[in-house]
Amino acid sequence: MSSCSRARDKIFVTVRVRPLSSRETSQNDASVWDCMESKTISFRMPLPDRSPHPKCYTFDRVFGPDSMTQHVYEKGAKDIALSALTGLNATIFAYGQTSSGKTFTMRGITENAIRDIYAYMEQRRDRNFILKVSALEIYNEVVKDMLNMDSGPLRLLDDPEKGTVVEKLVEDVVRDINHLKDILAVVEAQRQVGETLLNDRSSRSHQIIRLTIESSPQGLIQGGFVNSLVASLNFVDLAGSERASQTLSEGARLKEGCHINRSLLTLTTIIRKLSGQGRGKSGHLPYRDSKLTRILQNALGGNARTAIICTMSPAQSHVEQSRNTLFFAMQAK
Ligand code: ADP
Ligand code: MG
Repeated sequence: MSSCSRARDKIFVTVRVRPLSSRETSQNDASVWDCMESKTISFRMPLPDRSPHPKCYTFDRVFGPDSMTQHVYEKGAKDIALSALTGLNATIFAYGQTSSGKTFTMRGITENAIRDIYAYMEQRRDRNFILKVSALEIYNEVVKDMLNMDSGPLRLLDDPEKGTVVEKLVEDVVRDINHLKDILAVVEAQRQVGETLLNDRSSRSHQIIRLTIESSPQGLIQGGFVNSLVASLNFVDLAGSERASQTLSEGARLKEGCHINRSLLTLTTIIRKLSGQGRGKSGHLPYRDSKLTRILQNALGGNARTAIICTMSPAQSHVEQSRNTLFFAMQAK
């Protein structure tokens, strides 16, 4: 993915349209988006004169309803994920309205990425690797450890060297790929418990799976130059983007306070600024305004690599939310 390697200083933005669900099909909901030439998505219906909405949107890559997650990974995330093996922090986000396919997509992306990471580490016999994994959830600005759900809310601390650290977050040292898969299965089970307890939990919470990859040359010479590398790779399944509504007036926002997700709003502001839009006079990036952006600060912007996969439903009934998602994706480019 050479276009991706050139894009170090920008965010790699892709859009994935899921198939119509059986429910949408049974309600005779129509598919209203076409994906063309791998980079453009187009609204299928005629637009009224002077419509405020574009007919076509172009991104780094667009994936239609028939595309497999493996392909989405290869073209939209692989390069960025693997850069963590060379010491660059990396983050892969799934952004989109609830039920647009974020979790479905991130699961597959994570699975593909860990397979490739292990394949790489096995080839590089000249280096020693240490892999650690942690998982957390941010719900209503409260951080919880998904590898230790019995623990209470976790605090964020400022470390002079590491930046923001999550106090007492469990970090498991991974023995091998099967061990990692077992840990991720525990996280998945936790997620499902959360879902059952509270119906719209996943639409309100952010989930981050973080791999920390350290490596150093085999057989270090005492006192010699230590070419050691460390980077984090973050897989982020965001809260439903309907929680980031920019369209509500300030008053309506206050009234609907609980529907607006501070972390998601702050993230969208930062991403807009990082991509160069809305830079203007204030180049200030408000990382400290939310838990999500504090936790991801070192893996977002600066020297880090970022991929955003925006997911959407193809259905006519969701066209407004899909346009909001495409609007966000345009700003992230
Ligand atoms: P979200 O996490 O955005 O709320 P989900 O990932 O849970 O959405 O997806 C909603 C439903 O659609 C799930 O049943 C999921 O299996 C299905 N789905 C999502 N994306 C796809 C896809 N690309 N192909 C087939 N089914 C999908
Ligand atoms: Mg989900």
